[in-house]
Amino acid sequence: MKKQFKSESKKLLDMMIHSIYTNQEIFLRELISNASDALDKLYYKSLTDTKIKIKKEDLEIRLIPDKENRTLTIKDNGIGMTKEELENNLGTIAKSGSELFKENMKDEKNLSIIGQFGVGFYSSFMVSDKVVVNSKSLDGEANTWESEGASGYTIDKSDKKDEGTEIILYLKKDTEENNYSDFLENYTLERLVKKYSDYIPYPVKMTVEETKKTDDDKEEKVEVDKTLNSMTPIWKKPKSEVKDEDYQDFYTDKFYDYEKPLKVIRSEVEGRTSYQTLLFIPSHAPYNYYSKDYEKGLQLYSKGVLIMDKCSDLLPDYFSFVKGLVDSEDIALNISRETLQENYQIQAIAKSLESKIKKELETMLSKDRETYEKFYQDFGMQLKYGIYSTYGMKKELLQDLLLFNSSNDKKYTTLKEYVSRMKSDQKNIYYACSESLEKCEMLPQVDAVKEKGYEVLYLTEYLDEFTIKTLSMYADKTFMNVADEKLDLSTEEEKKELEEANKSYKDMLDKMKSTLTDSVVDVTFTNHLKNHPVCLKTKGEVSTEMEKVLQTMPNNQNVKAETVMEINMNHPITKKMEELYNNKDFDTLDKYSKVLYQEARLIEGLSVENPTELSNLICDLLAK
Ligand code: ADP
Repeated sequence: MKKQFKSESKKLLDMMIHSIYTNQEIFLRELISNASDALDKLYYKSLTDTKIKIKKEDLEIRLIPDKENRTLTIKDNGIGMTKEELENNLGTIAKSGSELFKENMKDEKNLSIIGQFGVGFYSSFMVSDKVVVNSKSLDGEANTWESEGASGYTIDKSDKKDEGTEIILYLKKDTEENNYSDFLENYTLERLVKKYSDYIPYPVKMTVEETKKTDDDKEEKVEVDKTLNSMTPIWKKPKSEVKDEDYQDFYTDKFYDYEKPLKVIRSEVEGRTSYQTLLFIPSHAPYNYYSKDYEKGLQLYSKGVLIMDKCSDLLPDYFSFVKGLVDSEDIALNISRETLQENYQIQAIAKSLESKIKKELETMLSKDRETYEKFYQDFGMQLKYGIYSTYGMKKELLQDLLLFNSSNDKKYTTLKEYVSRMKSDQKNIYYACSESLEKCEMLPQVDAVKEKGYEVLYLTEYLDEFTIKTLSMYADKTFMNVADEKLDLSTEEEKKELEEANKSYKDMLDKMKSTLTDSVVDVTFTNHLKNHPVCLKTKGEVSTEMEKVLQTMPNNQNVKAETVMEINMNHPITKKMEELYNNKDFDTLDKYSKVLYQEARLIEGLSVENPTELSNLICDLLAK
């Protein structure tokens, strides 16, 4: 007699049968996981029930493709199901999955997500017209459950001899989009087992034909049993049994890298949420790392079964370069993407991974500086971005992982190292920004600070200054751009001298300012410059380097740095300008102002605003 599915199950079945979901291959993962659970159950029962006589090594899962009949059978010698169990387990949606399905079934679009998680036995209908479940339970009874989908199912007695369950899938006819016959090919089955069920703790076997040489040197085809899965995951093997090369091969193989990783991190945590983790820090950034296409995440396994390929919630953005996996017994197979973020186990794991990764990087930095610098060259930008994009909230976590070049020896320094070298009277951490170390080194403002014996950080990447601004302080020292107008390293005497010079030439400086009114907010004298005649300083928050970056951004608000032109009061050119001013040769003074301003821009690494005008000005002055 035909029985009807419960209404919810019917809906789910319908969706599976008419599945628009492209990732149909996961049905095999689901059936193998069920078989593995059935073997687990039998094994645990045998530990306490002396009547059950089994050997663990006999427990197995078998795949039997039959091209003639277009069937694929998944067979186990596990605990089996009684008639009642067949009825209860397969007639309704599995208890564990039901909540998720109830939620997601409301919306057809969600099908694509469902496939990521445990969809259970019903997924067999994605690839089959008819499914037959033949099962013999421990009570010695054998029954056959059969269904062609939504129309219902039947249960009858069967003559199955051996204990356990076999699931026979009658594959759908091939269509233009779907080649179901593929699931009868040895190599496809092998590939799918390797991909999804490699670490199932029981052998998944298949009989395959192999060619052998006979004694009289002829070739002969023989049938052999092949185990398709490796069973023990590398991260569960005793550490002493795993060589460095094994981890490296595993990494290059699973994470599609051609270079071995810079660092392998393996750990095990026991607690409220227990898990093993195997992480890798790549030796180079993937080609798309700094683009939108890059997807961060770790593989998530539940009891050796892959349930998600890129679980992004396990990794913060600033450690998005980390590859690897987490395997936890405590995470349900059918965890959904929606509930993932709220899942406290995932949160707990993510939190402890964050500090683990940080510790590993710190150790690398202190013990193996060369490797760390290699790492930093590729991924340092991401760490800086981590500080900037979280508005400094992750400052404590990340600031000691940063490296900067500095005037000390132009090599990388940490902030801690910089501070340890600070002079006793030094109040600030100084930095200079330009495109290259050479240009930083040549900046007139750098000269002035170095002259005092202070070290200057050289910032050459576009994110650098934004990061520094976000940090704002380190070890109670404020960061200070050497081009900041507020910076004043003069002695009282020097200050006085400067003040007087500025006062007595106020009219001339004002005149120059009015010539440059579109470009600068002020023109003043300085006594910090050694050889250079002029330099640019900035007032307020935005420096010239930041202006350059901001101008390249889409929807830029045309943010401008407030520039001050400083003239070296001890330079011969200053004498010359005083002369011009006193002789009321304002026309030539105008030209001097413009040329000096463009010169200052060039030194700063900025472009000349109007090259033709500048060239004409220079010619005019040369001709005099
Ligand atoms: P889930 O595995 O999430 O519980 P399924 O729909 O895949 O959901 O399976 C429903 C139930 O059917 C299982 O919980 C299990 O009790 C039973 N079952 C499925 N496959 C087997 C099998 N090969 N051997 C024994 N019991 C099985």
